Amino acid sequence: MSELIRMSAADLAARLSTGEVSSVEATQAHLDRIAAVDGDVHAFLHVSDHALDVAADIDRRRAAGEQLGDLAGVPLAIKDVLVTTDMPSTSGSKILEGFLSPYDATVVARARAAGLVPLGKTNMDEFAMGSSTEHSAYGPTHNPWDLDRIPGGSGGGSAAAVAAFEAPIALGSDTGGSIRQPAHVTGTVGLKPTYGGVSRFGAIALASSLDQVGPVSRTVLDSALLHDVIGGHDPHDSTSLTDAWPSFAAAAREGARGDVLKGLKVGVIRELPDSGFQEGVSASFRASLALLEAQGAEIVEISAPHFEYGVAAYYLILPAEASSNLAKFDSVRFGLRVDVPGGTVEDVMARSRDLGFGDEVKRRIILGTYALSAGYYDAYYGSAQKVRTLIQRDFDDAFAQVDVIATPSAPTTAFRLGEKIDDPLQMYLNDVTTIPVNLAGVPGISIPSGLAAEDGLPVGIQFIAPAREDARLYRVGAALEALLVDEWGGPLLDRAPLLGGAR
Ligand code: GLN
Repeated sequence: MSELIRMSAADLAARLSTGEVSSVEATQAHLDRIAAVDGDVHAFLHVSDHALDVAADIDRRRAAGEQLGDLAGVPLAIKDVLVTTDMPSTSGSKILEGFLSPYDATVVARARAAGLVPLGKTNMDEFAMGSSTEHSAYGPTHNPWDLDRIPGGSGGGSAAAVAAFEAPIALGSDTGGSIRQPAHVTGTVGLKPTYGGVSRFGAIALASSLDQVGPVSRTVLDSALLHDVIGGHDPHDSTSLTDAWPSFAAAAREGARGDVLKGLKVGVIRELPDSGFQEGVSASFRASLALLEAQGAEIVEISAPHFEYGVAAYYLILPAEASSNLAKFDSVRFGLRVDVPGGTVEDVMARSRDLGFGDEVKRRIILGTYALSAGYYDAYYGSAQKVRTLIQRDFDDAFAQVDVIATPSAPTTAFRLGEKIDDPLQMYLNDVTTIPVNLAGVPGISIPSGLAAEDGLPVGIQFIAPAREDARLYRVGAALEALLVDEWGGPLLDRAPLLGGAR
């Protein structure tokens, strides 16, 4: 296996900048890796056929002395929820099979402008609904740690691509956990930015008040570097914040140097139920807290009494917004059209949506339409919005006492493919600790915290910060990461079986 695929994006970028390695070499190494392992992993729905041309162009510009971005020449995987002009964008759905967008998502345009090299589009649950990538209309992605297990979802493709060394970094989207939960089960890093911190323009909408695009990587610094590229105000997104953001990479580097943990107040939620959490997940969480404490952090018990109602509120708000967002897939303007001989335009729409959408999407459209219907609106959608406000207040109160909140990123390690597919409620409960973060609009990061003793599978720890304090998460995340990698004697992913390492 080429050394080039094992490097972090930051290391690769450093070698690209000195000319020691070319982008063509780096890109070819990743394409070779995809060819070698993606038949098993199925992280990609589409592999770019002009990545090498893009890489060659970057090499040419560098040779000509052009000033290029920090990540110029580094390959990037892109979740299929993000529209691209040069590759199909399906959002994991049959209804968009082969769809070519007339424009790039802002985050994709920014990545291209920064010289990143798009490798391809990654697999996902249909319209980002799911926690296992099994709801993809194109077949599931497999977890590189154990191919019989789920890679998380909805962004299982991006997480698996990064975990299997098919790409050094990737773009994901997170509406209720789709960046952080896949990171948890694949031993990777992922961050959901503050709502409004990263443009949603060109991200195929699931639930507009919850969706955020964010980075996926193997190190905290790599996520920060990618976040620096994609973040910041975008006039095309009316909810985009106009803040001037600090350098997230600088924050991650500061964290890795140490010292930031001394006096840091880390909140743990009293009401987080003990039950439902796998022992290895809880044990890893406790061990990380002990490590933080040993470095001078203070662990403070906080109360967030409405946290546990997050999932219930989310499964009213999300379907409500999704049913409205998905109304545009009407067989006239986008994608699949199934002719109904002699039928009306409504017959064609109904037939196309029936054949184009999968079961989970239909379930949520029906749920959302019901929740929004006259007579039920206040009882369901209205109540859920009130719960959302209570959760936001819980966070406000908590952040008056602590700098960050820590939780396990998800209740269990990667479950087996097929295990929860017929039990939507079990699938939904995967996101108990990630969903409240989206409801409150605050940032959250998941970093690997170890392997569960009982099954040897990766576990993540989540840190949550107040809105606009994404840099704090990079600082704290990088600090803990440095301690853990030191303790492990190297990155966790070096022990993943696809690499031939012991597990
Ligand atoms: N698993 C959650 C859901 O099914 C989150 C999805 C997401 O973040 N896109 O809705």
